[in-house]
Amino acid sequence: MLVAARRNSIQEYSITEHVSQFAELRKSVEFGSVHSSGRMFESREEYIQEVKRIDSGKHSPLKVNCGLEVDFSPRFQDRVGDFVNRARWDILLCSIHELADGRGIEKRNQLGLKDQRNNWETYFQLQTMALESSFVPFNVLAHPVRMSRGATWVPDDIGEMLTALCAVAKRNGKAVELNGNDIDYNAGLVRLLAVACSKTRCAVSLGSDAHYPKDVFRNLEVAMRLVDEFKLELA
Ligand SMILES: [Zn+2]
Repeated sequence: MLVAARRNSIQEYSITEHVSQFAELRKSVEFGSVHSSGRMFESREEYIQEVKRIDSGKHSPLKVNCGLEVDFSPRFQDRVGDFVNRARWDILLCSIHELADGRGIEKRNQLGLKDQRNNWETYFQLQTMALESSFVPFNVLAHPVRMSRGATWVPDDIGEMLTALCAVAKRNGKAVELNGNDIDYNAGLVRLLAVACSKTRCAVSLGSDAHYPKDVFRNLEVAMRLVDEFKLELA
């Protein structure tokens, strides 16, 4: 990952492991959506020490930030908050991966329009709750349009929904993420998110959502063009 970051002349690189990849937390929290494979860490300390050990290179000024991507759900926000807040982090992202009943948001569904509408509303309510909560001191709401990956329908008023969401983010001093993976499967929706940010003066953060080295710079040039076009503030 770091070699790929250097190759792309990135000066600061943030590693944000999902909280669900920690065995300590997976034992006590039944996450509705987890990666079926991938590295598991026994504890926060194991992860923090590993990030610290990374050689950032003598000839490269690459700064490595140690952070987490923290799932928000009313079902387990206290337990997750307690786990996260026992350490200091350089960066915290917050994201919604499941609906209130634990169903994963990215699952392909064959639901009718009414149920899909309900899911979208629930998804945005959860994102709003997350932005207004102080369960962890996060900086960025990650991939706020991820729901569209599993949905076959997007609400007609999605622009208004995004504007309302970005207004809440702005009011609470949070940025929203223009996510490289979201750009891959729904660039139009990420563009609408950029429009919403420009209307509300909400700051943006650019993320590649890289799980593999090949993804380290994924779509960041597309996101940068949106930043320039809409004169967005970078967090
Ligand atoms: Zn995520």
